[in-house]
Amino acid sequence: MLASTLIVKKREGGELSDSEIRFLIDGFCEGNVADYQMSALAMAICLRGMTEREITTLTMAMLESGERLPRTDRGKPRVDKHSTGGLGDKVSLILAPLLAVCDVDVPMVSGRGLGLTGGTLDKLEAIEGFRTDFSSEEATQLLDQVGAFIISASDKIAPADRRLYALRDVTGTVESIALITASILSKKLSASLDALVMDVKCGSGAFMPTLEQAEKLSRSIVSVGVAAGMPTQAMITDMDQPLGETIGNAIEVNESLEVLQGKPGVVRDLTVALCANLLVQVGTEATSESANARLERALDDGSAMERFEALVHAQSGKLAGPLPLAKPHVINAKRAGFVERVDCPAIGEAVVAMGGGRRMKGDQLNHQVGIRTHCRVGAKVEQGDPLLTVYCDSAADYAELLAEAVVVVDQPVSERPLIVKRFQ
Ligand code: URA
Repeated sequence: MLASTLIVKKREGGELSDSEIRFLIDGFCEGNVADYQMSALAMAICLRGMTEREITTLTMAMLESGERLPRTDRGKPRVDKHSTGGLGDKVSLILAPLLAVCDVDVPMVSGRGLGLTGGTLDKLEAIEGFRTDFSSEEATQLLDQVGAFIISASDKIAPADRRLYALRDVTGTVESIALITASILSKKLSASLDALVMDVKCGSGAFMPTLEQAEKLSRSIVSVGVAAGMPTQAMITDMDQPLGETIGNAIEVNESLEVLQGKPGVVRDLTVALCANLLVQVGTEATSESANARLERALDDGSAMERFEALVHAQSGKLAGPLPLAKPHVINAKRAGFVERVDCPAIGEAVVAMGGGRRMKGDQLNHQVGIRTHCRVGAKVEQGDPLLTVYCDSAADYAELLAEAVVVVDQPVSERPLIVKRFQ
């Protein structure tokens, strides 16, 4: 077989056989298929797409390029959630300990933020001493001890994806449903899960801005996950405004602590919906109603909060109450009316500009900067009401970027639904 012949086959819209896909991925890992050939193949896949069978084989080949977390005899189902990423998405911080108190294990391998959306690991590293680099033996011990962990992917997990993603990032080939599906699922399959729920974000603050794209990705991930032997369901959720009230690192940890201590709102609602989906998928709860009731109880009686503290402690973090933030600066409404839009790109850019996100891989973060939004789309505001509080050293630098970030109009505006669609 020749890599160049297979690239031409895909370029012309052909369907690659299982052995051809394995030849390309194995050859890439062994150095027999060059980076430039893999980049050309990625572009051909981007333009021509792949069938469900091709994506499943690609996913399995990338999974088998690395290690899997071994199953232990703990007798508990293993579950996880994956989000395509969005502004203010701190759900993982609450979901992992919350599920762990409901008798399921949560081996969560998370990422860092790049671009406008933050990363779970960056948020947790706002906690003094918090470690995310654990070997798979240490990770298994964390699971025994706490029932959950939130760690970074080691080089041994799906190395083919790691190398291919680095090429995609610089060759305009990230936006491919086939490649995104294989990339996400190869890493999730390595945790040997009994169920996965995908939170596919849709809107101006998300990777998938339109419902049509979000639906395509959801269908692809659900069907390939199931074909690869991992029960998988998906929800499309709103990302046309930030999730919850805060965007930043320390500030999102603080909001997570509030939710773990019983605070109501959209972050709690979405977390409970995703957790309930998983508890029903693995049969720990028979219905969404009983799952919801159990999860709500664990948030209200402090047991989820206790488990979060145990997770932080086991991962060497020191947590004694809310984390410190930079100096607050308030932006008030210039007029009365109704909130029509909260500009996700402007808020994301401001947080990155303040040092809360990365422009380049390896940039150091300022964990104490961030933004609190005081109203959601549809809210009624009076002139002078606070719209945003910006936590940073000098608000003057970002005032212009944020001046029009919350758009207020005369006519009443409907609230946006949080969960747009479910795929089972
Ligand atoms: N996240 C991933 O892990 N891979 C992709 O390709 C896109 C988003």
